[in-house]
Amino acid sequence: MKRLLLHACCAPDATVPLEDLEAEGYAVTLYWYGANIHPQGEEVKRREAMLRLAGGRTVITGDESVAAWMEAASPLASEPEGGRRCGLCFRRQLEGAARAAKEEGIGLLCTTLTISPHKKADFINTIGSEAAEKYGLKWLDRVFRKKGGFQRSVALSRELELYRQSYCGCVFSLRRGEIND
Ligand code: SF4
Repeated sequence: MKRLLLHACCAPDATVPLEDLEAEGYAVTLYWYGANIHPQGEEVKRREAMLRLAGGRTVITGDESVAAWMEAASPLASEPEGGRRCGLCFRRQLEGAARAAKEEGIGLLCTTLTISPHKKADFINTIGSEAAEKYGLKWLDRVFRKKGGFQRSVALSRELELYRQSYCGCVFSLRRGEIND
């Protein structure tokens, strides 16, 4: 089986990518970044949901601190969702995942982010392929929301009773009531 590191932005969004990639024969290791999820109680809820979805699979937790993420993202606090702050956030998440994959000896990288109908899949896949290239990995270019993927993820996460968040993750999106899917 080919090993793949899947950057998972949240448990509901990871349901379909995990199911599809394993059905295709990939041995999936999950990666949870975490530093962009505020406040801490929310990060704990989302991480626990991820661990529940993972079952016996390995979940690697990102090593970046919330303080480091905030320092980088704060100058872009007023950007709307999908703007430059989110570009920076995706890059930090996907570079964190690429570093982790390199350390684990996993040569293939992918993300669940493209399941959201509110996120630009081409933009995400471009950032992902740049992050992969930086660490000498291959990028698996996918758009998981295609063929009803998003609707399937909603149904699956309800069936599995996974925690579903009401905002994207960071304190800025919380204040604006931005949603992520
Ligand atoms: S809105 Fe979401 S993607 Fe954008 S910076 Fe905040 S956590 Fe990251």
